[in-house]
Amino acid sequence: MNETRTTEWADETLYPFYRQSLSVDRLLYDSKTEHQRIRVFENARFGRVLTLDGIVQTTEGDEFIYHEMLAHVPILAHGSARRVLIIGGGDGGMAREVLRHRSVERVTMVEIDAGVVEFAKKYLPNLSAGAFDDPRLDLVIADGAAYVAETDERFDVIIVDSTDPIGPGEVLFTDTFYGRARERLAEGGILVTQNGVPFLQAEELTNTLRALDALFRDATCYLATIPTYAGGPMAFGWGTDGSARSTDLAELRRRAQTSGIDFRYYTPEVHQAAFALPGYIQRLQP
Ligand code: SAM
Repeated sequence: MNETRTTEWADETLYPFYRQSLSVDRLLYDSKTEHQRIRVFENARFGRVLTLDGIVQTTEGDEFIYHEMLAHVPILAHGSARRVLIIGGGDGGMAREVLRHRSVERVTMVEIDAGVVEFAKKYLPNLSAGAFDDPRLDLVIADGAAYVAETDERFDVIIVDSTDPIGPGEVLFTDTFYGRARERLAEGGILVTQNGVPFLQAEELTNTLRALDALFRDATCYLATIPTYAGGPMAFGWGTDGSARSTDLAELRRRAQTSGIDFRYYTPEVHQAAFALPGYIQRLQP
């Protein structure tokens, strides 16, 4: 006899006009930290699903798309990234992907909620896959906005792997934060940001692109479609004063090959194509 289907659904109500539901086939964790409510449950298609305050953060089924595109595009475009800063990323997936680059010497990960890290190690071990034990990783429990204001360290790549601009993540979408992040970039450094799904969150992207355009010589976004970030392609903000975005295909292919990484989503061709924006997203640029 087939297992009886759960009657419970996790409704994500990120928008007043649109919601998505994932069946909760098995609830594994449900608790509140001082910052947010953390839930992890199993779903037949997406595997383990993490939600914070009811919003899908990452799933075992499609996290590879998001983490590969937000990690490898800036690192392979840069070509010689040694020091990487991750802001957010509590589940460890971003750190896992960055640390796959043997050329990366140090990863500083600034996560505001220790509860997310602790429970992710236990309930989502496939995401971090040992990243938290890598001697190159320096985990800092702090507000990312405060960190960039106080540190004097410089980084070749800064990855903002935050929640949406509500709750603790809101401060990571401000002009002040972007300005201070820019000051933390080494020469030729690149800032990339999780910037939502423009078909449903256009204002979030417009705001970031306006701020990046005022700060960087090269400011734009690039795209990838992650099934559980509903509503079409997700945008990743991109800002740099260097020329990394013009790295040609042959050189990207060489770097990807040299990295020795077995990507599941990233290819040099997808890397380049990701910056080709459809009209409705181009029109969100300043
Ligand atoms: N991939 C997800 C997405 O696209 O929404 C993000 C995943 S990760 C779980 C988001 C992390 O950002 C969470 O662990 C959250 O605690 C962290 N975060 C939110 N605001 C933060 C802040 N101000 N400083 C540092 N980390 C923050």
